[in-house]
Amino acid sequence: MEYGERILQQTLTGDDVAELQLRLAGFRGTLPDGEFGPGTELQVTTFQRDYMKMATPTGIVDRAVMEKIDEFADKFPVNFADLKCPCGTCRGFGQGKFKGLYITGRPRIEAFHRYEYPGIHRMILWAARALFFYMPEHNFHFNSSYRCSVDNLRRGRLSTNHHGKAIDLDVPLKTGETKHDDRDKCDEIRGRLVETANAQIGWLGTNRKSLEPRDIAPTWVHYDVRQYERKYLDDKFFCTNQRDLDNRKPIKI
Ligand SMILES: [Zn+2]
Repeated sequence: MEYGERILQQTLTGDDVAELQLRLAGFRGTLPDGEFGPGTELQVTTFQRDYMKMATPTGIVDRAVMEKIDEFADKFPVNFADLKCPCGTCRGFGQGKFKGLYITGRPRIEAFHRYEYPGIHRMILWAARALFFYMPEHNFHFNSSYRCSVDNLRRGRLSTNHHGKAIDLDVPLKTGETKHDDRDKCDEIRGRLVETANAQIGWLGTNRKSLEPRDIAPTWVHYDVRQYERKYLDDKFFCTNQRDLDNRKPIKI
């Protein structure tokens, strides 16, 4: 069923449910498995309570909720020019190389998968939008997002997280603020993401959005989906422009 064609609520399954789960990635957050269970209901009630300011959230996604999700997307546009790889060789989002290939001598896990995914994972960008909503006091900008194998080679970097699975967010210092303030601010943001987006600090759990801990990322916030199982890292989840990120559908209910 296409998103927008029916009211969504507990026990329903389908691609439209997966689309909903993805769009609400930053409101508690679950996986895009297409099954509307208690985790998805929590996403919906969180969105209704926090964004829609509903006194009694229903957990039911009707036309009004779908319209508000579209409004939420429009309020927090993503400028893909800020996300592009700076190498000058690829067109901004890698060249689709190295699928199924891993860094030599390292375990065959996603952290060492060399594949240049075709864009940035939609979950991480929708989750970033929710962060922008929850913390309007910060003037967030994308510090680095896509960095392909050419860029990695040039800079002697081994990490492949930025092959589409990660974004780094930065908050510029205000006048009079110190590096110490910056570190505290980033800690506070990570704390908020754990609370509001069901993210984890570090990479212990599978299928959770992950944040680099303070010792690795003192003055920025690194957010990634490298702990996702392969099925949640399918090419279809990646996008290179706002139209595909939004995937706007007519609301027909
Ligand atoms: Zn590149």
